[in-house]
Amino acid sequence: MTATIIDGSAVAEALRNRVGEAAARLQAAYGKSPGLAVVLVGEDPASRVYVRSKVKMTTAAGLRSIEHVLPADTSEAALLALVAALNADPEIDGILVQLPLPAQIDADEVIAAIDPAKDVDGFHPVNAGKLATGTGGLVPCTPLGCLKLLKTVREDLAGLDAVVVGRSNIVGKPMAALLLAESCTVTIAHSRTKDVEALCRRADILVAAVGRPEMVRKDWIKPGAIVIDVGINRVDDPDKGPGKTRLVGDVAFAEVSEVAGFITPVPGGVGPMTIACLLANTVTAACARRGWAAPAL
Ligand code: NDP
Repeated sequence: MTATIIDGSAVAEALRNRVGEAAARLQAAYGKSPGLAVVLVGEDPASRVYVRSKVKMTTAAGLRSIEHVLPADTSEAALLALVAALNADPEIDGILVQLPLPAQIDADEVIAAIDPAKDVDGFHPVNAGKLATGTGGLVPCTPLGCLKLLKTVREDLAGLDAVVVGRSNIVGKPMAALLLAESCTVTIAHSRTKDVEALCRRADILVAAVGRPEMVRKDWIKPGAIVIDVGINRVDDPDKGPGKTRLVGDVAFAEVSEVAGFITPVPGGVGPMTIACLLANTVTAACARRGWAAPAL
């Protein structure tokens, strides 16, 4: 078998287009489009790239983008004051504080300070609790993107065995909650799990969110399984030349493709969905808070 590749770039582009149409409709109906505030603290190069990309795609979709760049030595009190101001600003619909934050700032304190109604990352404990209890709220962008990719393969996931490898608050746990809400039978594996390979071999849906290059091998895969690779790992690529690198996922793509039914590539799989879902969450947050008619995204 050769797996069908799930084209995350194409699915993400279609979602961004739907967000763009929604923004135009909201502008026409209410004279305003949703506004996303992105806060970057410090000089971390990867974070700068992410923020630049988020700002570019936000404006390309017709949403308002408000950027706050703070110096690396910003105090926690100063960042909390900015968050409070953004919470109070009626023109701000979504607030995203780019992680990681410098060591002097407690990220949990900052996340907890964001108004849950504007928490477009879905990291606030109120939104995590709503996801866990199936009572709505804003859902973290990466797992939401994974679910949308799964739905391109199969609309009804009920009864499928799903294994999520990784239990972080931003990917693994919310992913498991979303799959449970879809009536999958969900197992979460982590670094202390015994015989993770055997667990994975039972999975109709396997989501790898570990951060270990190409950890998931061909013999971990149930024939025909849907494999979603969240991992983004930079590894050396001597074939390209000395000092050159390339991106790989947590799944050994070439060999796993021989067994899986469907697979997401890295890059071009889950990654583009994360930003597209951030834009969708901004529209969702704006409509819920302002009482606007919410478009289907
Ligand atoms: P974390 O480091 O927070 O979590 C990694 C998880 O993997 C932990 O739960 C850890 O277990 C588990 N783990 C580590 N080693 C093993 C192992 N040998 N066997 C089984 N489980 C293991 O990472 P994130 O969740 O933040 O991210 C995971 C990956 O996804 C990273 O590569 C990251 O770059 C990528 N990512 C991609 C995004 C995208 O947009 N595509 C967005 C966010 C992340 P334990 O809890 O026991 O330590």
